[in-house]
Amino acid sequence: MSRVEVDRNRCVGSGTCEALAPAVFEVDDDGVLTVLRPEPADDELSDVRDALQACPTRALALAD
Ligand code: SF4
Repeated sequence: MSRVEVDRNRCVGSGTCEALAPAVFEVDDDGVLTVLRPEPADDELSDVRDALQACPTRALALAD
């Protein structure tokens, strides 16, 4: 099971991850990120990987 890790010191609340994987990431009006599904299902991993790639500050990682 892969687990989403967030470097809170790097996240700038851009919301890019939510746009690409809304089932897994949610960014509120103050730019605070909530990981809705820290251990995404297999069929969500493609979207999560897209979000990792697109994060402007590389704040996201996937750990096995
Ligand atoms: S894409 Fe990156 S910087 Fe933007 S809200 Fe998500 S984790 Fe934070």
